[in-house]
Amino acid sequence: MRYYTLQEREKVRWSGGYDMGRRWALPGVSCPMCSAQWGGGGYDYPAVDLSGLGQVAKLLERPRNVPWAEFAALRDSVLPLVPQGAVVTPGSGFGPLTGRARGQFGPISVHMPWTLLVRPDVMRLLDGLTGAVAVPAAFRRVKSDGQLLELQVMPGGRLVGEDRHKPCETCGRSSWVLPPPARWRLAAPPSTDFARATATVVVVSERVVERLERQLEESDIVALDVSGPRGAKRQTDIASPG
Ligand SMILES: [Zn+2]
Repeated sequence: MRYYTLQEREKVRWSGGYDMGRRWALPGVSCPMCSAQWGGGGYDYPAVDLSGLGQVAKLLERPRNVPWAEFAALRDSVLPLVPQGAVVTPGSGFGPLTGRARGQFGPISVHMPWTLLVRPDVMRLLDGLTGAVAVPAAFRRVKSDGQLLELQVMPGGRLVGEDRHKPCETCGRSSWVLPPPARWRLAAPPSTDFARATATVVVVSERVVERLERQLEESDIVALDVSGPRGAKRQTDIASPG
């Protein structure tokens, strides 16, 4: 099975845009081990509802930075509610997108490439495919209409290069810098049709690309082959017309 990353063309015909607000997020941290201050960047779980956590949920409503021990305690409250296999980091978000949206959205949106948004008609085409759960975005609308669904994509697969950088033993932060998308390769393929290969990289199987060929084209999105190993046959623009 081949895998692809979805990339917007430089010029797109859609005016849609949004802010990355989310109902809840773990705070960022100041790590006592590596001294990094960091948080956020992809490991988000829109289908996870934290409203049952009461006061703890309240603490997760506004972004901030906290000492490691405080972060660890908040994370421990959240972990029983996340799906198996979830990676939860400083800044991980939960619940639907809540920012402001404006403009018109195409069938598929990857403005923030680690966040996949689709229109409801697209979801019907993905019947039977694995690794994505659709969650309606709770955007505040400013001159924008129509429902959008965000896909919750679980971690899966692994990119070439990441395991050469040992993450901080306390906070898990890695010094690995992601190469440009044209050089992304999977060292290990995921077992699902949708997967998060690293925090900010979602990959989709050839079945997704085949089923959504017309919708990707209409969205001005190209599918870039990230199947390893290097030198394998590559189709760099499978969604182009003709
Ligand atoms: Zn650290």
